[in-house]
Amino acid sequence: MPANTAQTWASVLQYVRAQIKPQQFDTWFPQLRCLEFDPAGHVRLATPNTFYKHWMERHYRELLTNAFEEVLGQSVAVEFVIEPPAAGNGCSASAPQTAAAPSPPAVQTPSSPASQPASNAEFGPDTAPAPASSIAGTGDIPLNPHYTFDNFVVGPSNRLAHAAALAVTENPATQYNPLFLHGGVGLGKTHLLQAICHQLIAKNRSVRYVYLSCEAFVNEYIASLQRGEVDGFRQRYRHVDMLLIDDVHFLASKKALQEEFFHTFNALYNAQRQIILSSDSPPNEIQDLEERLVSRFRWGLVAEVEPPHYETKVAIIRRKAQARGKELPDDVVDFLATNLDSNIRELEGAVLKIIVLAGLQNRPIDLALCRSALKELTSRSGHVNISQIMNVVANHFHLKIADLQSRKRSKSLVLPRHICMYLARTLTPMSLEEVGGHFGGRDHTTVLHAESKIRELREQDPELRAQLDRLARELQRG
Ligand code: ADP
Ligand code: MG
Repeated sequence: MPANTAQTWASVLQYVRAQIKPQQFDTWFPQLRCLEFDPAGHVRLATPNTFYKHWMERHYRELLTNAFEEVLGQSVAVEFVIEPPAAGNGCSASAPQTAAAPSPPAVQTPSSPASQPASNAEFGPDTAPAPASSIAGTGDIPLNPHYTFDNFVVGPSNRLAHAAALAVTENPATQYNPLFLHGGVGLGKTHLLQAICHQLIAKNRSVRYVYLSCEAFVNEYIASLQRGEVDGFRQRYRHVDMLLIDDVHFLASKKALQEEFFHTFNALYNAQRQIILSSDSPPNEIQDLEERLVSRFRWGLVAEVEPPHYETKVAIIRRKAQARGKELPDDVVDFLATNLDSNIRELEGAVLKIIVLAGLQNRPIDLALCRSALKELTSRSGHVNISQIMNVVANHFHLKIADLQSRKRSKSLVLPRHICMYLARTLTPMSLEEVGGHFGGRDHTTVLHAESKIRELREQDPELRAQLDRLARELQRG
């Protein structure tokens, strides 16, 4: 692969990684190879077999197209071809392989990343066969290597969940059994579950644990039923030291599966094995979850992972940039933390996007780049415009909009006016000149001064910061 192809492909993969679940990424993307892209925007990607090719076409063509367009800055057409990995290292044209018989789903062994994705009627046409990671003391597992405790930024929003997760690695099956983590999407539940696995491996390489998504658990159960091997299934899950199941809200309204899960739970619990679960909602809010499961899920510790506050967002943004070898300027970090909502996956995606863009355009990472890179992201969150800003600020300070726009310099007007300018600069893509134009034709240096003044005050004055955050939220709610 030519160097620039390799670089582009690496950026595309980074982009994709930030958009999908790690399990999906690990299942489908390591085996995909970029053969070429030409200046006309034709991209050719190699897949190992027909099943794989169809899967990619159906599920990931759009994402890959977006990723290439994002990275290359031009429109592209993505084509998938079949070329088994053994065929060579890039452009060699080997005879396309006809569909290799897909392997049964059973348990995908994590130690064989080259194993084919399972294709099986059990999964139904549109359900991804979530890979099950089953481990008994091998370090050879498809955990995301970045999802460790070291890489987890702790703040008030996730402190309890983090402490409990750490505690179960110290003293499994004592204090918190089960440990039930819940919270919105992209807030770090999977990260914490996998961090527990990493920690266990580091401490005791012979520990037997199973980490998998609830969907994979269910798929395996159904597959074992169909093959008449339910006993084997039960053996596998009921004889581990620790069972970690991600996204148990998947059990919502699935009575028969809840029954099976209930028995697995009891068997492990009675044998004093640690159970760790995650879910997008607390036990009692999972739809149609049997009461006996709700109550069992609450036996141990139920900890919520909440959306991060500003300071935690700042720390996470910095950490994510450092992980990619970059330091972001303060104003860029502040811009991101203020404007993006609290989904950490989105924060990560934005950091990545800025870094990739700066590299491709050979530009420094600054506020201007950040604004243009994130225009749609930030404007999507609320479509804020200058008149809304003036309205909200005028209301908040009990002033008239005309006064805000006037050239009067009374003290009671200067701060709110500066706040308007600051909000316009952080919440809209307007330039300094444009903002100045709305305030009695002030020139760009005045706006720049206002913006940096408020930024500075915001750092020093928690009260003002809270006020600004409230105004920004109000505006973004629309
Ligand atoms: P969830 O399972 O709650 O939907 P994930 O665990 O998949 O969320 O987290 C989404 C992304 O955000 C991951 O890349 C993860 O590493 C990152 N992330 C979440 N919380 C933190 C945190 N506190 N510190 C660092 N990264 C985090
Ligand atoms: Mg998750």
